[in-house]
Amino acid sequence: MAQDCLMHTYARLPVSFEKGSGAWLWDAGGRRYLDGVSGVGVCGLGHAHPALAAALCEQAGRLWHSSNLYGIAHQEALAARLCELAGMARVFFCNSGAEANEAALKLARLHARGRGVDEPAVVVMEGSFHGRTLATLSASGSRKVQAGFEPLVRGFKRVPYDDLDAVRRVAAHGPEVVAVLVEPVLGEGGVVVPSPGYLRGLREICDAQGWLLMLDEVQTGMCRTGRWFACQHEDVRPDVLTLAKGLGNGFPVGACLARGAAAELMQPGHHGSTFGGNPLACRVGLAVVEALAAAGLPARAAAAGARLRAGLEAALAGHPRLRAVRGLGMMVGIELDAPCGDLPARALGQGVLVNCTAGNVLRLLPPLVLEDDEVDELVRRVAAVLDGWEG
Ligand code: PLP
Repeated sequence: MAQDCLMHTYARLPVSFEKGSGAWLWDAGGRRYLDGVSGVGVCGLGHAHPALAAALCEQAGRLWHSSNLYGIAHQEALAARLCELAGMARVFFCNSGAEANEAALKLARLHARGRGVDEPAVVVMEGSFHGRTLATLSASGSRKVQAGFEPLVRGFKRVPYDDLDAVRRVAAHGPEVVAVLVEPVLGEGGVVVPSPGYLRGLREICDAQGWLLMLDEVQTGMCRTGRWFACQHEDVRPDVLTLAKGLGNGFPVGACLARGAAAELMQPGHHGSTFGGNPLACRVGLAVVEALAAAGLPARAAAAGARLRAGLEAALAGHPRLRAVRGLGMMVGIELDAPCGDLPARALGQGVLVNCTAGNVLRLLPPLVLEDDEVDELVRRVAAVLDGWEG
């Protein structure tokens, strides 16, 4: 079997897709599925978007790669556009979310040097997920991603999510702390939306302590939650903001944005990436940003997400296993009172793709371009998946 040559890194479902269009995917047998996962929060603009395909093909015929030894016009243009949208000053481009967070963690180390701190620590959250590289899995608050990979990278202080007092306690006892790294909404951790004022409170603590506020918006960024970036719901501007997933709509591109003193920390020789920010990736990134803006997707994702949550609440009301429907924009979690690892396979039978995270949360990260009737269809199919499910 062809899969015998692949490392066993993933437990895959028994289906593969041959083509897509908008929010729909087709398998090899021609069967159609409504995509409630978007390649794990990636394809916000759906599949086979004509403007993205055109930009990719046009650039592919012109120039793919030249390296960061030289100027790259599309990289400069994408950086300027992201800075304008996020209120940031400079960007480092890479290829994934983990790499974007690695860059952020290196900024925290440089910030520490500037403060004369030799053994710096970054405050991170229980239940968080920041990636699979050694530093980012060490930062993540899930034993599952760490087990087997010890020794972990040092320099993290972990506190409960959505608990400002816990961060204040660290501030009182930890002169070595230099930054906070946090997801505005926990993604892999179960679609946990913090209390109103949480990010603002973190901003205040960081300002008072001279710490960097570093937001991991790898999953929440690029309109997923109904704003360009989730921090904009609270009008909070971080010192460092990381992106990937929706930025390339499936083309690998990540970014670490910074402002203020944090934007001036990196100097030639400190960091780099062979592929990061190449002409092809940045051309696609620019096309993604323009398509998101042209379709008014921040507002559209907010409206579609509200419709999706309301529809699910109504359709699942009284389900014996339902604990809660929650989320922000098109990031939706259905918390169940039993493990739901079997549901993604069961959902294939209903022609819908869903994801299970944090053990008992059915997660929906649909394309942001879902029309109202597709939102309603997603609700119907998800309800059918849960119909008669006993956990
Ligand atoms: N940060 C967050 C919040 C994520 O959700 C993810 C991936 O799910 C990552 C980082 C890691 O991104 P990547 O898989 O592109 O390295």
